[in-house]
Amino acid sequence: MTKIKKILVANRGEISLRVMRSAKELGIRTVAVYSEADRQALHVRYADEAVCIGPPPSSESYLRIEKIIAAAKQTGADAIHPGYGFLSENEDFAQACHDAGIIFIGPSAKAIELMGSKLAAKAAVAKFNVPLVPGTSEPITDVNAAKKIATQIGYPVLIKASAGGGGKGMRVVEQDEDFQEQMERAISEATSAFGDGSVFIEKYITRPRHIEFQIFGDQHGNVVHLFERECSIQRRHQKVVEEAPSSVLTPAKRQAMGEAAINVARSCGYYGAGTVEFILDDKMNFYFLEMNTRLQVEHPVTEEITGIDLVKLQIRIAEGEKIPFKQEDLRMSGHAVEVRVYAEDPANNFLPDIGTLKTYKRPQGNGIRVDDGFEQGMDIPFYYDPMIAKLICRADTREAAIEKMIRAIDEYEITGLETTLGFCRFVMQHEAFRSGNFDTRFVENYFKPAALPLSGNDYEALIAALVSVNLTEQAKTSQNVPAEKQPVSLWRKNRL
Ligand code: ADP
Ligand code: ADP
Ligand code: MG
Repeated sequence: MTKIKKILVANRGEISLRVMRSAKELGIRTVAVYSEADRQALHVRYADEAVCIGPPPSSESYLRIEKIIAAAKQTGADAIHPGYGFLSENEDFAQACHDAGIIFIGPSAKAIELMGSKLAAKAAVAKFNVPLVPGTSEPITDVNAAKKIATQIGYPVLIKASAGGGGKGMRVVEQDEDFQEQMERAISEATSAFGDGSVFIEKYITRPRHIEFQIFGDQHGNVVHLFERECSIQRRHQKVVEEAPSSVLTPAKRQAMGEAAINVARSCGYYGAGTVEFILDDKMNFYFLEMNTRLQVEHPVTEEITGIDLVKLQIRIAEGEKIPFKQEDLRMSGHAVEVRVYAEDPANNFLPDIGTLKTYKRPQGNGIRVDDGFEQGMDIPFYYDPMIAKLICRADTREAAIEKMIRAIDEYEITGLETTLGFCRFVMQHEAFRSGNFDTRFVENYFKPAALPLSGNDYEALIAALVSVNLTEQAKTSQNVPAEKQPVSLWRKNRL
């Protein structure tokens, strides 16, 4: 057992802060790394020490293994936490840490490599009787062969990048005629995004739910699961609202899926925190999708219903400790919902809307947690993921958690750029979401941008317009905006 004394967090933004907070509580010193675009960032200020690792593009900073290892050596860090994204699922990075005598807070390089390939992962878990989506078990390049298989498994099918992640490199094909084009697109997207053009085919499950299990393994062969997270509300195959527990799982289904998740972990000798993603069809059959070998963006909802600090547990396991509880000791309590606040414009196909946080005020109160990495006046750098914050609400029941979320969204004040907050409020109020009867096509099925209230920016523009009309028409000098028209609660309906 090695006690960790100093952790370098090889990441930025909210997750960097999140990790450092837990480290501090454990009496562990912290080191931040940052690019030139992040000199003023909160994670840099929060850490005990900080090292600049290069120019803004992540390919020249946050993705540079040798620079990060050098920063760890320079500061005497004995462990590295990779966060999520960036190098968190890079087996070369895990190996480089190991070779430098630094503890990588995550699984073995071998497990990362195996699970990093969706095809290799499927082959490994099949041996442990984990159900798979029907499809090919080898990469496929020949369109005619692919069409044949598609006819066998039945349209629609999904062409998927084996090295895929973040919803990229995936194409739905409805019919034979479209195959060629979609396959070419999937291959080229996979090649440019992951440097690996291998694609395979899976049956496209219609009306699916995305349900994933948080698992933990230690270096002594123990594996447990910390229940599920429902992540079916997605845009571009990427999550935007998550909750725990899922409203559709019965205790028996939860147990079956939990056991399958543990088997997935066993199939690769997993230790540390990981997530096993499943897809659930409308008949409640579940199939393995992939395993993410890192802490997940949406891990807070699991923390809120289990009372377990997942980062502290990661650190203890990396030190060589055993998991300090048994599966049967774990209980879920209450309900937690998370919404991701992205600098994106939901009315414009969720395209990033980078800019300055002119006003930024977090909601407050019992059961509300905001994990973010920004303050008022800061810029959201355009080089990185446009996530501003995660807003998490916890209450005794699902209904109460949703009500709390609506209140919290209403109190969240962000101007200067468009965000997904209004969209998330729309989700919270929607009958399909509230009833629990929804699937991954929620956005396509129900979301029309016209359903959104005016955003902070539109609102300000409107006020500016009203004021100027007022000025010219009545030749008044006062620019006072009536109190009821001040942008206090931007997401409340019928504000104007
Ligand atoms: P999951 O929700 O399953 O963890 P996502 O794909 O939604 O997976 O989230 C991981 C993504 O987060 C990465 O693919 C990357 O685009 C993005 N990301 C990476 N680093 C950061 C960061 N520091 N802050 C915000 N987002 C990041
Ligand atoms: P990524 O590595 O990009 O996260 P996943 O395999 O986890 O890839 O899939 C991401 C999302 O795409 C899922 O959450 C789900 O919404 C959708 N998806 C993936 N596979 C299927 C499938 N076979 N049928 C229907 N939807 C799917
Ligand atoms: Mg996934």
